[in-house]
Amino acid sequence: MARTLLDKVWEAHTVRTLPSGQTQLLIGLHLIHEVTTPQAFQMLTDAKLKVRMPERTFGTLDHIIPTTDQTRPYADPMAEDMAAHMYRNMKDFGLNLFDMATGKQGIVHVIGPELGLTQPGMTIACGDSHTATHGAVGAIAFGIGTTQVRDVLATQCLAMAKPRLRQVRVDGRLARGVYAKDVILAIINQLGVKGGVGYAYEYAGEAIDRMTMEERLTLCNMSIEGGARFGYVNPDATTIDYLRGRPYAPQGAAFDRAAAWWKTVATEAGAAFDDVKRIDGAALEPIVTWGINPEMSVGVSQRIPAPESAPEAERPTYREALAHMGFEVGQPIKGAKIDVAFVGSCTNGRLSDLRIAAEVAKKGKVARHVRALIVPGSQQVATAAEAEGLPEIFQQAGFQWRKAGCSMCLGMNPDKLEGREMSASSSNRNFIGRQGSPTGRTLLMSPAMVAAAAITGAVADVREILK
Ligand code: SF4
Repeated sequence: MARTLLDKVWEAHTVRTLPSGQTQLLIGLHLIHEVTTPQAFQMLTDAKLKVRMPERTFGTLDHIIPTTDQTRPYADPMAEDMAAHMYRNMKDFGLNLFDMATGKQGIVHVIGPELGLTQPGMTIACGDSHTATHGAVGAIAFGIGTTQVRDVLATQCLAMAKPRLRQVRVDGRLARGVYAKDVILAIINQLGVKGGVGYAYEYAGEAIDRMTMEERLTLCNMSIEGGARFGYVNPDATTIDYLRGRPYAPQGAAFDRAAAWWKTVATEAGAAFDDVKRIDGAALEPIVTWGINPEMSVGVSQRIPAPESAPEAERPTYREALAHMGFEVGQPIKGAKIDVAFVGSCTNGRLSDLRIAAEVAKKGKVARHVRALIVPGSQQVATAAEAEGLPEIFQQAGFQWRKAGCSMCLGMNPDKLEGREMSASSSNRNFIGRQGSPTGRTLLMSPAMVAAAAITGAVADVREILK
């Protein structure tokens, strides 16, 4: 019988079936960062346990670090405390830490694939919801809580229930000005923020096949925003080309052997899914969120919908969103004034994201009332961008060029919204307070659309700027 990637990877990592019916699953790669690990390490210390497979555990610093001056001690004592714990724990437990001195530091979901740690057929866990990102290479990758971080550190295993599998097919070719971010926002809009609960998503179809690996990373990153614990793309020639030569990928003949095996991990023709949904990729336009969860979005040419257009149960959230965002029903999203523009995050802080934002930045200057930040997802992204002269393009246009980190994706470092500022953001969450101000407002969109909003001073249609 034809099998899916989920079936094969799950089976290959099954240690045993537990009395609860869950699977004891071996975790091939454990990625850690400073926020969700201090308590986990403390629990390990209290129980006098070691890290079971230190060679499969890698850490970085991302959430709390400033993106201007990264000299320690950090001004924020809580951030400094987390960093100090991270350094101490990584040393005490003998683990690899990619800190600023290594030149490999960055957002955990950017550096995993970039370093070739993330490979097809793996199981990958990390104490961060957006671990689904790594599914782009054909891995089963999911976020875990601090207690589970402890479990993986101590045993390299997790107790997990195998989800059902939905194939999300995105057919057709994307139009110019429409990117992976628009595809995943469209998927979440059509299937809902809870539509994927209990499911994993397998992304397929012509639009996905044609995506670069960086676009697939953007796509899989937001699986969790659609309720799916993880999502993946089957490994193909794009995957193998991306991984070749990366420092932690197999090298030489070992790479060719690995690549041959990676191809066998892909879902086989004729495999059955628990559900299949289809989306016409060719019909998509740039998408912008207008509300307080990533499902609340419209095409850039569209207007803010009325609560009555939503199912009865969702209408209170729609009303709350309208009140928080200050939008009127029927108002076009295009032209909504912004105060802040942020290009970065594990969704859209990679080199290709910065390149397209720079292409747009060349078309104008940041509007006088807009604070615009470009934050590379990793030191390696920053170095590559610098080699291409991207910081100069941004700076000439009035954008700030920052150091690598999570930055304004969340309010855990000095990059925060102030008051009711409205942000055009390439990140993945628009929840109330997410960008650091309880009254701040977030509009999610692609990096190209963020750059377009920055130079226009309001939500704009990047297709009109790029033509
Ligand atoms: S960029 Fe945002 S979503 Fe990604 S790891 Fe950092 S805080 Fe989490």
